[in-house]
Amino acid sequence: MAAPVRVRFAPSPTGHLHVGGARTALFNWLYARHHGGAFVLRIEDTDRSRSTEENIGLIVEALEWLGLDWDEGPPAPGYRQTERLPSYREHAERLRAAGRAYYCDCAPADLERARRAAQARKETFRYAGRCRDRGLRAGALRLRIPDAGATVVNDLIHGPVTFEHGQLDDWILVRSDGTPTYNFCVVVDDVTMRITHVIRGDDHLSNTPKQILCYEALGYPVPEMAHVSMILGPDRSRLSKRHGATSVQAFRDAGIVPEAMVNYLARLGWSHGDQEIFSRQELVELFDVKAVASSGAVFDHTKLAWLSHEYLKAMDGARLAALATPFIRAAGLAPPADPARLSPILDTLRERARTLVELVAAGRFYFEAPSAYEPMAAQTFLTPEGARRLGLLRERLAALTEFSAGALEGATRGLAAELGLKLVDLAQLSRLAVTGGTASPPIFAVLALLGRAETLARLERARAVAGGAA
Ligand code: GLU
Repeated sequence: MAAPVRVRFAPSPTGHLHVGGARTALFNWLYARHHGGAFVLRIEDTDRSRSTEENIGLIVEALEWLGLDWDEGPPAPGYRQTERLPSYREHAERLRAAGRAYYCDCAPADLERARRAAQARKETFRYAGRCRDRGLRAGALRLRIPDAGATVVNDLIHGPVTFEHGQLDDWILVRSDGTPTYNFCVVVDDVTMRITHVIRGDDHLSNTPKQILCYEALGYPVPEMAHVSMILGPDRSRLSKRHGATSVQAFRDAGIVPEAMVNYLARLGWSHGDQEIFSRQELVELFDVKAVASSGAVFDHTKLAWLSHEYLKAMDGARLAALATPFIRAAGLAPPADPARLSPILDTLRERARTLVELVAAGRFYFEAPSAYEPMAAQTFLTPEGARRLGLLRERLAALTEFSAGALEGATRGLAAELGLKLVDLAQLSRLAVTGGTASPPIFAVLALLGRAETLARLERARAVAGGAA
C-alpha cells in the first residue's frame, strides 16, 4: 500500500505571501485534503538576514485568511529550519562518512576567478573537483555527483525533464563556516518530514536534479515532484508589483472575499471543464495536480473581482456580516448595536458590490447621516418647492403605524398623486435627503432599514437645508 500522502508548503519568510506562493500552498492543501493526507507548514528561515518574525506572522495570517489549515507546523516547535540544524549536521556527517561528500578548501577567490573565466567563455561554471580525492578533514562539504549520465525529473506536471550531469557540479552542502545550504536543508527536511509529494513553484525545477542526487546519496526514495508554473502579468512577464497588487494581504485589504480568492487561485492554471465557481468541497473532490497546466497563467484582476461579486451575492448572511464588520470599522463607521440589523442592510448592498470595500462605501449612509448632498442633485431638488415637498412627506411618513417598505411606498405614492407628481420625483427627493446621493438600493427598503426616527430626522434636515437655500 502506498504511504499516506504528506505534502508541505515551505515559504521563505522574506516578505508578504505572494499570490504565487498562495496558489502553491492551496495546491498542496487541496492535494492533502483530497487524499486524506497531511499538509505540513515549514518555515525556510535559514537566510537569517532576510527572514523576519513579522514576515512569518504575515504568512501565517494570510494562510489563515484563505482557510488553509495545516496539520503540522508552527507554532509547534521543529518546523523552522533554524530549529533543525542538528538534523542537517547529522545527515552531512552521514554523507561524509559514506564517501558521498567530501571537504573542499578551495579559496573563494580562486573559485570566483574560475567562475568569471567560465562566464567569459559563455559556459556554465562547474567546480572542477580539485578536492575530490584529497581526503581533507575540514572546509566546505561538497556532494560527490556522478561525472557521466543524467538525472531525470519525472515531474507530474511537466513530464520527464532530463538534466545532464555535465551541467551540474559537486555542489556545496555545508559551507566552511558550518552553515548548511538551501538545497541541502530542503532535502533533509523533506526526507525527515517524510514528504511524499513535493509541489512547488517551477522556479525550483532547476534545483531539483541536485536535490535528487542528494536523496540518492542518502539512500532515500525520491518523492513525487510537481512544479507549478509561475503566475504572469498581462504582458506575460512574471507577476510583480508593476502589475498591481501581488500580496494576499493586499487583496484582503481591498475587500476581496477569501472564498473568491481561493476559487480564483485554484482556477489559475487548473480547470474542470468550463466550470468557474467551485465550493471548497468541490475543489477538494475534483482537484488533481496532474491536471495543472505547465505553462504560465496570467493573473486577471477583473475575473477575480467578478468571482468576488458572485460570492458576495450568494454567501450566507451571517458569514457576510462577519466579513463586512471589520470593513465597516475600517471605514470609521460603527456597525449597528443590534447585530441582527446588519444582515438585512447588507442584503440591499451585496447585489452591486464586487468587494467588501465597495459594499461598505455604497452603504455608508446606513451608518452615518450624509454630511453633504451631491451638488448637482441638490440644485435640482433642494429648492423652496423641495422643502415644501419634504415637509409634507415627513408628515405622511410620521403618521404611518407600520414603518415597512410597502407602507412607505404606499404613502409616498399617495402624496405624489395628490401633488400631481410621479412617484420617482418624491423617491429621488427622499433618496437625496437620506443618502446624500442619487443612487442607492431601493429607497423604501432603505427608509425601512434606517427606521422611523432616523428617516424623519434626515428628511427634516434636508428640508431645513432646502428652505435655507431659498
Ligand atoms: N522556500 C522556497 C520558496 O519560498 C520553497 C522551497 C521548496 O518548496 O522546495 O520559494
